[in-house]
Amino acid sequence: MDRSLMLAVQLLDWGGGPVVRNVPVPSPTGGEVLLEVTAAGLCRSDLAVCAAPAGRFDYPLPLTLGHEVAGRVVRTGPDVDGDLIGRSVVVHGVWSCRRCRNCRRGRENYCLALRPVDGRLAPIGGGLGRDGGLAEYMVVPDPTVLVDIGSLPPASAAPLADAGATAYHVVESNSDLLDENAVVIVVGIGGLGHLAVRLAVLRGAGHVVAVDPRAAARMSATTMGASSVHESLSDAIAETDGLGGTDLVLDFVGADDTMSAGVRALVPGGRLVVVGGAGGAVSVGKNKGLSAGWQVSAPFWGTRADLEAVVALATAGLVEAEVSTRPLDEAVDAYDRLRAGVEAGRTVLLPPRSVADHAGKEPNR
Ligand SMILES: [Zn+2]
Ligand SMILES: [Zn+2]
Repeated sequence: MDRSLMLAVQLLDWGGGPVVRNVPVPSPTGGEVLLEVTAAGLCRSDLAVCAAPAGRFDYPLPLTLGHEVAGRVVRTGPDVDGDLIGRSVVVHGVWSCRRCRNCRRGRENYCLALRPVDGRLAPIGGGLGRDGGLAEYMVVPDPTVLVDIGSLPPASAAPLADAGATAYHVVESNSDLLDENAVVIVVGIGGLGHLAVRLAVLRGAGHVVAVDPRAAARMSATTMGASSVHESLSDAIAETDGLGGTDLVLDFVGADDTMSAGVRALVPGGRLVVVGGAGGAVSVGKNKGLSAGWQVSAPFWGTRADLEAVVALATAGLVEAEVSTRPLDEAVDAYDRLRAGVEAGRTVLLPPRSVADHAGKEPNR
């Protein structure tokens, strides 16, 4: 490689915003692999990391953000098979230990080695504690975190790494409830929620009711196959009560009010699944007026197998994330728009070389 510097979107100080700057191009050693990034998605959890006070995350700074990454393998460390070079991939973002009992169960999204230490959140993977993919190049620790995307366009593939894999994990973990009689409420139709609507419909759920105060988000839910859309959760619950009650609430907001309304809407044996990180809490207990058999869960991300599965669905044309693309050097404004909630679907940033490729192939937006 003839270049020594690259653009990267970095967090420099806790509580600060992301900045775009020039940093050295990383070099792969040992079992590592160097990707030329072709597309990388923005996620609300990036904003939570940036806004955190010092001490919450045990992440070294400066940190290159970006945990939804598509790329092309351009170099490998000495311990890696060079046949990988040229492959188009997405990065599984949970860089697990592969040895603990959860990893051996294929539940590497719950790797025991990634637990918080002394209350500080440990690095998870690229963009979340290790340098991520909002840059022109990125190093991954070994080839097992890579999933081939073949000819899938990078801007469509990148959001599958988190939004897609997480939504897939949520839907698959509750697929026993998703028959033609199922009544499902999806709260919050952003990057993850719109894919959850699509995946729940694809899994056969009879009624998928979507909730979002933003008109563009409700339109996205309709495009993804929602049976109906509502501005408010109370309106959605009024509808699902008319259908005999709610089997499953997928809460991609996770605020006090969405969680407490969600758990109270459940039929016996129903489930509230909290995915969104708005900092809400809900009180549950037996003989507290909740339906028998209530379950509340808070899943985290997805497994590598989940990512492979959602990539396969996208390759078959069954799932397509709603994406708007922007150049990498507009990251600061793109994050401002994400924070303001003005974008539907997922925002994906393209490094300079990919902007040129992308413009030649398909319309930008
Ligand atoms: Zn994320
Ligand atoms: Zn592990």
